[in-house]
Amino acid sequence: LAAVLLIGSLTACGQEARGGSRYKPDTGKGGTIGLAMPTKSSERWIADGKNMAEQFRKAGYKTDLQYGDDKVENQVAQIENMITKGHRLLVVAAINGSALTEVLKRAHDAGIPVISYDRLILGTPYVDYYASFDNEKVGRLQGQYILDQLKLKKPDKGASEHYSIELFAGSPNDNNTKYFWSGAMKVLKPYFDSGQLVVRSKQTKMNQATTQDWNGGIAQKRMDDLISKSYGDEKVDAVLSPYDGMSIGIISALKSAGYRGKDLPVVTGQDAELASVKSIIRGEQTQTVFKDTRKLAKQAVQMGDAVLTGKKPQVNNTTDYDNGKRIVPAYLLDPVSVDKSNTGLLVDEGYFTAGQLK
Ligand code: BGC
Repeated sequence: LAAVLLIGSLTACGQEARGGSRYKPDTGKGGTIGLAMPTKSSERWIADGKNMAEQFRKAGYKTDLQYGDDKVENQVAQIENMITKGHRLLVVAAINGSALTEVLKRAHDAGIPVISYDRLILGTPYVDYYASFDNEKVGRLQGQYILDQLKLKKPDKGASEHYSIELFAGSPNDNNTKYFWSGAMKVLKPYFDSGQLVVRSKQTKMNQATTQDWNGGIAQKRMDDLISKSYGDEKVDAVLSPYDGMSIGIISALKSAGYRGKDLPVVTGQDAELASVKSIIRGEQTQTVFKDTRKLAKQAVQMGDAVLTGKKPQVNNTTDYDNGKRIVPAYLLDPVSVDKSNTGLLVDEGYFTAGQLK
């Protein structure tokens, strides 16, 4: 009996030390959750961090929220620090999905579970769950929106109308980039093949179109170059942009080149960031893809709480998210296309107030 008691109290002490003073071993609640987010340069990640911190607090945990300023070495150091401090769970939106193998091995050795948030962490078996949106669908929504706006209903090799389009992809180190791209290409490719859509710059490969760190300034510069090198009298009819911050840069380049109002091409986006939603209402950016970050935060909090309290997290995909070392059980939410016909949805859902969109 003495031995059992001793082991019991040792375990409890271990958990005390690891989880902090609020950890209640009998319920599994309490202790601190490490939230490693990529950057504050985009609204969505600020909201993701804030939403998760609030919701984890409500569920009975403390949180340690860190932003890596888009620098891999910062994020690795932040996660190392979380492990050292004995946090009970890590929720990570990776800056570089392939750069966390060693640090997550350390998390595993310390018995700390990991949830991959929004972006799948690659090349390590030590990712327990993945919460995200259907990222391929994001790309399909962007591509389909372009087709709809250009009234392209079916591929037709004999068609007389031809439209020019330029293509942008996300950051090369973000695993989501390839899903957005492949979703969009699935929809657009038949029209490249039929000749109805023409990429005048000929930059049709993902690696020619990527944008380091999703940087709007880099996208603006590339759009400037594309216009000056590939468009003389020709007009750009559509731009596939995977992210609002880039769309704003792309639109600046178009405006500098003289595009105004109705001359502006169809420009897609993602995240329903305030500046872009306003731009859509003004008639500049054409579309965005709304991903309710509050719902994603809620999903990650439910997963984390279930992991820590010995319950089974809810998942809806156990086959598709292979990170090279394991198929990570995932929960995927549904993205929604928004243009000026349905920006009201963002107010109805409480994502923005009507006043913010004025
Ligand atoms: C996210 C997008 C976001 C992009 C840039 C991606 O991983 O899924 O929502 O637009 O990163 O921050």
